[in-house]
Amino acid sequence: MLQQIHTAKVPGWHKRRFWQVLHSIPHYISELRDIDSLREAIDWAYFKNPYFFKLRKYPPRATVEFTNHCNFGCGYCPRSLMARPEGNMDVKFFESLAADLDEKGCSVLKIGGLGEPVLHPEFPQMMAALGGQANEGLSLHQRNTV
Ligand code: SF4
Repeated sequence: MLQQIHTAKVPGWHKRRFWQVLHSIPHYISELRDIDSLREAIDWAYFKNPYFFKLRKYPPRATVEFTNHCNFGCGYCPRSLMARPEGNMDVKFFESLAADLDEKGCSVLKIGGLGEPVLHPEFPQMMAALGGQANEGLSLHQRNTV
């Protein structure tokens, strides 16, 4: 049902999705190259295919989208299919989330999603919210164009 609604809204989305997946392959290869231990490999596999594992109480990896505003329009980006409104994450909410992720053992925190993180109007405060929790597992996905 959801798929029918989706195709009705965006004609040709199957073809676009195929190209998006194809463009993701180098990204997956680089992620695999960064794995340093069996534990990280298991966490990565769980993150990508959780239905093959016993469900954990908390995700070992998380992606946080500071904002879904973007000043680019890359052809392969699923942002072109985004139906939700543009907005920014609340700093207080992120402070609470970051503390929770750290406490529950989330090993990889990716700042990215369908937007350019540094376009968040309170980006320095968002990064400061990580405080001492910033570790090797933190990755910031941005383009250095802002
Ligand atoms: S979110 Fe990233 S991939 Fe998508 S349009 Fe912006 S820069 Fe391009």
